[in-house]
This record gives sequence, structure tokens and C-alpha cells, in this order.
Amino acid sequence: MSGSTAFLYHDDFLKYQFGPNHPFQPIRERMTLETLRSMDIFRGDSNRTIVPEIVDMNDLRAVHLDHYIGLVKTLSQRGGLLDSGDTPALPGLYEGALRAVGATVQGARDIIDGEYEHAFNPAGGLHHAHPGRASGFCVFHDIAVAVRMLQREYNVGRVAIIDTDGHHGDGTQDIFYAEDVLTISLHRYGRGFFPGTGEADEIGEREGRGFNINVPLPQGTDDDLFLRAYRSIVLPALRAYHPEMILHQFGVDGHYLDPLVGLGYTTQGYGLVASLTHDLAHELCDGRYLVVGGGGYDLDATRRAWSIMYCIISGSHRWDDDLLEELHDGFTPYSNQHVTGEVLEVIEDVEDRSLPLLEGVIRYV
Ligand SMILES: [Zn+2]
Ligand SMILES: [Zn+2]
Repeated sequence: MSGSTAFLYHDDFLKYQFGPNHPFQPIRERMTLETLRSMDIFRGDSNRTIVPEIVDMNDLRAVHLDHYIGLVKTLSQRGGLLDSGDTPALPGLYEGALRAVGATVQGARDIIDGEYEHAFNPAGGLHHAHPGRASGFCVFHDIAVAVRMLQREYNVGRVAIIDTDGHHGDGTQDIFYAEDVLTISLHRYGRGFFPGTGEADEIGEREGRGFNINVPLPQGTDDDLFLRAYRSIVLPALRAYHPEMILHQFGVDGHYLDPLVGLGYTTQGYGLVASLTHDLAHELCDGRYLVVGGGGYDLDATRRAWSIMYCIISGSHRWDDDLLEELHDGFTPYSNQHVTGEVLEVIEDVEDRSLPLLEGVIRYV
């Protein structure tokens, strides 16, 4: 079943940008909203658009260092580089970042308050940001800021962060590495591929041991293998952990048309991942499911994948079977034998290592 779903959007999202020739283009977020509007998704009471506030500075400071926040503010006024080169600061970036983070925090708060069950913030998912530095087009870590707010204000103990972006969620891993916040990342991994972390043996430490799960996948992994890994690892891990809320970094740069990543997923694969996770949110945590964006550098594929995901989590696809047809890919890549063999080994490795470890350290049930 599906209850009410919110799409968080503000035109300030468009200020979160790095120039016209940069791969990250926030217009994809407005394109997604316009696609859903053109499909008449926001009719009735069960779907609405929400105009989010900017993040409260105390919430932001729970994750990010004061001097770093100040640096972002200063550099976005006068220009400069926030990391070694691919994350330049342009005028408006700071305001755009505050709004992007504010939307994720607001989605989390509204869901826990029972305003709606599911929400999507297409400007969120900035999973490479670290407490004191920007990385990989990510300035502030919206997901971590939302989790800290849930822990502090609502005493939420069990939050699961699922990350299906094509890149490893290294900021998320670093921030929660010694905590019992379940973080699961499925991503491309291999020599020279950004950010270089995310091996299966990075399992967390101290209180966090067993709560960090990485599924490193080779270039060319297709939908079938992606789904196989998802069903074999993510679903049992979530059932063991029994979260109070699921946060999902839904970067779609693993799409086969994406120019940066080299994975082979399609909109069908992304739709199934959305559907499985949405159903599990109803099974485990009264539907509390917050989806945020992330990578997505083929703008049209990103628009289509996110629109399909939104229709599925909001139950809108049931109105009309043909509704999603024109958004889906007309082509499906398949992995070769070598890639298939490699992925099956990774799945077995993570199943053997991480699932028993997680089940052994669960302290809640
Ligand atoms: Zn639902
Ligand atoms: Zn990415």
C-alpha cells in the first residue's frame, strides 16, 4: 500500500551548480518535477510538492566544522576551489547548498512527524561531502545532517542509509564508521575509479563494526546482477536491522547512458530497486522512506529514472499501466561472462562476511 508522498523542490536548487560545462547540472531536478507535473501526478491528496526551508545552522554544525562552513560561504561569494579541482565555488553555491540540505532535513522531520510517509529531495544525496571538506561535487552532507537531527531531536536509534549511486558513498561511510547506523553502498569499484574507497572489507569499527556494508561492483554490471546483489544483501540486512526510517541515496549515474560511471543499469532496474525498498519500508517501518538524489549526468536518463522512481514510491503507476511506458529505456545492456562471474563472487563474499556479522551485533531485537 502507499499513503502520501511529497516532492521537495525550490528554485534555489538551481544555484547549486559549478558552471555550464560541468557535468553536474541541477536543471535535472526541475526537469523531473516538470515531467511529473505533465503526468498530472500531483492531483488529489496523496501527492504534493513541498517548498523546503534552508537548513538550520545548528543542524548543519552537528556534522560540519565551523571554519569549513565559513570557507564555503566566503568562496561562493568571491570564487575559488573547494577541493582539488572538480568542485569550484560559484556565486549562489552556498545558498543552494543550504537549501538542498534543508530539504533533506525537512523531509526527514515531516516523515517522522507523520506529515507524509515518503518524500523525494532531488537536490540531496551529497554523499562525498566530509565534515571539513568538499569532494566530488558535494559540499554539505545532507543525509548525515538529517540523521543527526533525527538522533538529537527525535531520539531515533536505527536509521538505515542505502546508497545505490554509481560511486561509493565515502562521506557517509566516514561519518558513521564507528556508529551503529546501518550504511549500505552498492557502487562501481576498481583501480583509478573515484573515490577509491568502498571495498567489501570496510565493515565499520568499534560500535559500528558490522554496520557498514560495501558491495563493490565491476564496470559493466547490468540490471540483473544489480538486482541480484540488492535482493541478496540489502533486503536481508534491512530485515535484520529493522530500521525506524530508511534513507535512500538514489543517484542514478549507474545508468548505462551516464558519461562518468560505466555501469549498465536501466530505468527498469532502478524502478525495481525503488519498488523493493518502498515495500520494505512498509513492512519494517510504517512506510518511513526518504529518497534523495545524487549523481546523474545524462540529464534525460536522470529525469526519466527519478520520475519512474517517484511514480512507484507514490503508487501513481497503478493509475495507469501505460503511464511509465514512455519514460522507460528501450534498450537493455547485459554483462559479459567475466563481469557476471566477478559480481557473483562479490555477492558471495559480502553475504558470507557482512550478513552474519550484522545479525551477530544487532542489539535491538
Ligand atoms: Zn507507500
Ligand atoms: Zn555518483
